[in-house]
Amino acid sequence: MAMTSPFRGRLPGGWPEDAPPRSILASLAPYGCSGEDRESLGSYLNRLCDAHDMTRWSLTNTIVGPAAEELLHVSGARMSRDIGRAAYNLNVSSLTEQANHWAQTLNYLTHRNNLQLCTLLPLKSLVSEFVLLSEKERFCPGCHEDDARLDRDCYERLLWSIDAAKACPLHQLQLVSRPQAKRRRTSKRENGSLSHQAAAQYKIGDAPVHIPASDFEVETSRLIAELLDDAVYFSNAGYSATAQSVFLTHAINLLFDGRSARFAAHLGISKSQVHGWVKGSVQMSFPRLVQTAYCCGCAIADILLGNSVMLSLRPAPSEQRRRLIQRGGTGARRPKEDLRAELDALIRSGRAINATEAARAVGISLKYLKKNFPEQQEFLVRHGRELSESLRREATETFNNMYLSEHNALRAAGVYPSRRRVVARLRGKIGLGARQRVQEAYLGAFAVTGVKIAGSSRGRMTARLDLGREGRGV
Ligand SMILES: [Zn+2]
Repeated sequence: MAMTSPFRGRLPGGWPEDAPPRSILASLAPYGCSGEDRESLGSYLNRLCDAHDMTRWSLTNTIVGPAAEELLHVSGARMSRDIGRAAYNLNVSSLTEQANHWAQTLNYLTHRNNLQLCTLLPLKSLVSEFVLLSEKERFCPGCHEDDARLDRDCYERLLWSIDAAKACPLHQLQLVSRPQAKRRRTSKRENGSLSHQAAAQYKIGDAPVHIPASDFEVETSRLIAELLDDAVYFSNAGYSATAQSVFLTHAINLLFDGRSARFAAHLGISKSQVHGWVKGSVQMSFPRLVQTAYCCGCAIADILLGNSVMLSLRPAPSEQRRRLIQRGGTGARRPKEDLRAELDALIRSGRAINATEAARAVGISLKYLKKNFPEQQEFLVRHGRELSESLRREATETFNNMYLSEHNALRAAGVYPSRRRVVARLRGKIGLGARQRVQEAYLGAFAVTGVKIAGSSRGRMTARLDLGREGRGV
């Protein structure tokens, strides 16, 4: 009875007793050597299947599942189910307990010791899982072309599974979603091999479009790749609210004269949210962490570790602020009670600030939210409206104050504070927003300081004309 485990250091019949231990599965080395190009565990698993000429399902059913049962006492049937899902690559490579089981079992079977680096597990204790993972499978056409050119298997990069990474830092191209239709067709093949999949994709004819990524997209993706490397060394440290506070206080003092409202305006978020971060009562979401590192010119690890490093101010392109959160997903397939509990938790913790964010966080559409969770939806919509209202008020207030201080600075230097001059000084420090906003700040500053608007002896009409001309130059 004690004999039958195929997984516990048994040598195949006829092998000498002192032969070194053999791995049960081929000990492939994962591709890639840094956060920018490291292979994901889902992709690695696919290549293992290829190497053994087995389907994902039979490899899991006959080898990986039973081994996991024996090693970790987890259900092998559960692992077969994991692998049957369309999103298996993201699941197996993520930061869940399930990904941990896969990494440990495959480590054991291949005699490797670092396959968890092909998952997001090193980030687990460091960053919030809220809006961390990409919902769609994406890829960089340039990377796959390199794979083909260098004659290796087309493989999936771990970086592509992180939603906030919008570009490939190596090729400076936007990541492209895998077309649903094609994926369905290829996943019907019994052998879910990626090399076939990718090859099929090229043979079908329409080569994926190369869309150059913006500097912001490239740079933020590079920061995320860097974090994947750094996290390996300090993942044990875990998330620290104190470190987050220390860093933010440092950044606000250094870059924004100690005024957190300016920092909030710079990032396009509310003062109260920044306040929560600085106090350490709210953990920054991953996209905000990336955005903050970008805007302050530091590494994400610096924020997580509370490093007081040199910083430099870098404004985020304004269209990025809204795009941080997108909607849609597969949550609708999950039990309603689970979704309800998650929604309630999100509302309670204050992490989802409107219906769109909440729907996105639990992976459902706005329509589904409205239909199935009317109470939560109503609350979120009302709350979202109030919040965006107060956000707008705060932003205007901050903008007006900054406008006024530049206006005063010019006057102190003996220079007439024309709108053009003030605006030139504001550029890069804060988003200028709509023309109307500048105009109101402009008029406000003159009203507060009692300076006469040049060219307006008395009539408002003259002032208006003057503004119009200057406004066009702004
Ligand atoms: Zn690439």
